[in-house]
Amino acid sequence: MIIDGKQAAADLRKTLTLQVAQLKKDKGTVPGLTVVLVGEDPASEVYVRNKIKQTRDVGMISNEIKLPHDTSQIQLLAELQQLNSDDAVHGILVQLPLPNHIDESVIIAAIAPHKDVDGFHAMNSGRLLNGEPGALVPCTPQGCIILAKQHLGEDLSGLHAVVIGRSNIVGKPVALLLLQENCTVTIAHSRTKNLAGICQQADILIAAVGRANFVQASWVKPGATVIDVGINHIENESGKAKLVGDVDFANVAPVCGAITPVPGGVGPMTIACLLKNTLIAASTNG
Ligand code: NAD
Repeated sequence: MIIDGKQAAADLRKTLTLQVAQLKKDKGTVPGLTVVLVGEDPASEVYVRNKIKQTRDVGMISNEIKLPHDTSQIQLLAELQQLNSDDAVHGILVQLPLPNHIDESVIIAAIAPHKDVDGFHAMNSGRLLNGEPGALVPCTPQGCIILAKQHLGEDLSGLHAVVIGRSNIVGKPVALLLLQENCTVTIAHSRTKNLAGICQQADILIAAVGRANFVQASWVKPGATVIDVGINHIENESGKAKLVGDVDFANVAPVCGAITPVPGGVGPMTIACLLKNTLIAASTNG
């Protein structure tokens, strides 16, 4: 089975559209998301454009603040301070990566935790770690769980989940979410020994590595659910640019029980979950 992330994201947006309308009716609040983009990175510009369009499509307000590449850290912090105190702004997203002269961790720490719709602030990751309510949870990991449940159903209890990757934005938070779902969780990474042997034990295998076609068919337990987070740009045989995941899709698909494609898997869910977080932020603090 191929897990259709585009369809799952469209379904989630449909639900969110109704919930946004309900919130407006009940409280007069229209959720507002502000995206801050520093510099002219073309890939970031495309991501930001998509985020803004989809935010508006579900009935929320979306604004973009575009700052030049040479914006100083102090200027960016001042901008964030203003957004933190603006009641019409429920969600703030600073598009990463930032130019090298700006310290990302300082910027993330400066976003008010209740407006941190990326879920990267230490307050939100701490709440997720402790299993406390009220955390804004990172979007891509949320998307991974929703997609795994598309195939496995709501109850993931007792399943062995192997996550390859330990980044703060994907690997660690998705491992914590799987733990909350009562999975037995293994986190593998660049120093892991016998990676293939560990992956072979996985009922749910999540690849968040950033290496094209890295996960081999021989690593996958027959029937496993495979969630491919990777986004890798490669050239195909005729020299054309192509987007592939971290999993060798063509060879893994016949072995596993279900798999997310790239593109059209986790990617679309990430933005849909960003909208979900914005709605949560507006409902809680609107
Ligand atoms: P990262 O570079 O921060 O982390 C990569 C992880 O892979 C590291 O923890 C590292 O230990 C592990 N790793 C590297 N080489 C390995 C090896 N040989 N064996 C085992 N583990 C190894 O990357 P990230 O930000 O977590 O992103 C991972 C991938 O997911 C990238 O391709 C990124 O573009 C993609 N991504 C996709 C979305 C989406 O919306 N679909 C969102 C975020 C990231």
